Amino acid sequence: MPAQQHSESFDYIVVGAGSAGCVLANRLTASGRHRVLLLEAGGHDRNIWIHIPLGYGKLFSNAKVNWLYASEPEPELDNRSVIQPRGKVLGGSSSINGLLYVRGQAADYDHWRQLGNAGWSFEDVLPYFRRAEDQQRGEDALHGVGGPLAVSDVCEPHPLCEAFIAAAQQAGFPRNDDFNGPSQEGAGYFQLTARKGRRCSTAVGYLRQARRRANLAIVPRALASRILFEGRRAVGVEYLQDGSRRSALASREVLIAGGAFNSPQLLQLSGLGPAQLLSSLGIPVIADMPGVGADLQDHLQVRMQYRCTEPITMNDVINSWRHRIGAGLRYCVSRKGLLAIGAGYAGGFFRANPGAATPDVQVHFIIFSGDTSGAPLHPFPGFIASVCQLRPESRGFVRIKSADPRAAPAIQPRYLSSAQDRDTVVAGLRLLRRIMRQPAMCHFVAEERAPDPGCTSDADLLAFARATGTTVFHPTSTCRMGSDPDAVVDARLRVRGIDRLRIVDGSIMPALVSGNTNAAIVMIGEKGADLILEDAGASAPIPVAA
Ligand SMILES: Cc1cc2nc3c(=O)[nH]c(=O)nc-3n(C[C@H](O)[C@H](O)[C@H](O)COP(=O)(O)OP(=O)(O)OC[C@H]3O[C@@H](n4cnc5c(N)ncnc54)[C@H](O)[C@@H]3O)c2cc1C
Repeated sequence: MPAQQHSESFDYIVVGAGSAGCVLANRLTASGRHRVLLLEAGGHDRNIWIHIPLGYGKLFSNAKVNWLYASEPEPELDNRSVIQPRGKVLGGSSSINGLLYVRGQAADYDHWRQLGNAGWSFEDVLPYFRRAEDQQRGEDALHGVGGPLAVSDVCEPHPLCEAFIAAAQQAGFPRNDDFNGPSQEGAGYFQLTARKGRRCSTAVGYLRQARRRANLAIVPRALASRILFEGRRAVGVEYLQDGSRRSALASREVLIAGGAFNSPQLLQLSGLGPAQLLSSLGIPVIADMPGVGADLQDHLQVRMQYRCTEPITMNDVINSWRHRIGAGLRYCVSRKGLLAIGAGYAGGFFRANPGAATPDVQVHFIIFSGDTSGAPLHPFPGFIASVCQLRPESRGFVRIKSADPRAAPAIQPRYLSSAQDRDTVVAGLRLLRRIMRQPAMCHFVAEERAPDPGCTSDADLLAFARATGTTVFHPTSTCRMGSDPDAVVDARLRVRGIDRLRIVDGSIMPALVSGNTNAAIVMIGEKGADLILEDAGASAPIPVAA
């Protein structure tokens, strides 16, 4: 380890400038009363592909902005390792994600409340979703305007997406023009966290506004290596930057926002975690907390691939220099066209199991195809429809493998380890195939490439899921909120049994929400900021929409 350098003092230190960390940095500095240090392991968000929605595909394997994690072999996925990209840049994963804006279902948050987390029912959190939002369609009971997070419609309909939505209707599901409206069920277009065709990460939405404030210090390329304690009170953070070991002190609180993999990693490195694991690595134990790194949840997606009858897919644009130039010029002039779309264009939320009270699977309908996520696109017209179970029961773990903060932790989501998850994925694949075989879609299907049409029994479909399933990039719950002995944070996001330490990011979700996770984590950042300011004695300075 390099020698330690000077310590500067702040009111709050935020570790991680991701979806939640940028929200904290903005909200905690708004009044001017508090000095905040924001530490980020990655660099500035200057890569142009971060800001062009389609650039998402270029960031998948870029080590300059991505931690490029991979899971341990997954026992229920034929022992395959699954890629686990995570943003390592200002904006965190909100700078490299697929931009889809989906909050989940009201019942998800009511469930959090039922688990004993006061203040987290849907009625409680809705004002924070609204406060964050700048909804292009205007304000209503469920949506807000004027917030830092821009939410907009995809710029134009696409014939393949229209066919998918019509096919879902033919299969008996409604068209749904707002997955964050009164009902999530049905098929339609996703909305994106974008403004005028440019990505609105939390670095763009929240940090740009705040970065000139004299009371906010943003330190990029700073890897927090350890939380500093006096007894069981967090007093600062040690970090590595430019080959030096530095530290900073926090007179009020240390706030961890490193995301579902890195937050439990940092806690474990600092002596909070399963005592046996820490001792085996020579880390002094401050508190034996088996829940730190436990309960990892993620959405598994299984992708059906199709060859298209017409050259109208993204494959046809990307594989032709003439079309690429055309698309580039169109985007430069109007910020429209294929470069302005995110990971999924259209999709839907459906009940695959007849007994489900609300949708239990999500479909992403994607107008390009490749063999796996991030792989080169096929040299022929193609598209993908993937199915993912919304509320998996399977829970895995994140565990450090070394006391070196630069070493990746072991990550194992244990996908499909619950029988209910296996059944739901099979039911979801059946349902999706039923939609894709409706007359509206048939016109565009030249070939069902994967699974092949002979894959029909439950056992075949499960084998297909095991052989090809991969992440939709939604890891959560590794520092779970709750009141049971294994819960890591309480309903005010304070680490239980430890003074002046909070976690504010996707790791605190008691259970994964039924949708893409960025919107929910921005909400957690908004609510977390209010909890922190309330506890500091400064009542919430930002009006919460009624
Ligand atoms: C490829 C991909 C596609 C996705 N698509 C979508 C989508 O379309 N819609 C959607 O809603 N969600 C999507 N998600 C998920 C969503 O973006 C994430 O759930 C969310 O951004 C996570 O927020 P977070 O604040 O918990 O963590 P992050 O946003 O990951 O932020 C954590 C930050 O902390 C930093 N950090 C970590 N450890 C340290 C340390 N020790 N010291 C200093 N800094 C540290 C990291 O570099 C990072 O910047 C996607 C995610 C990925 C990776």
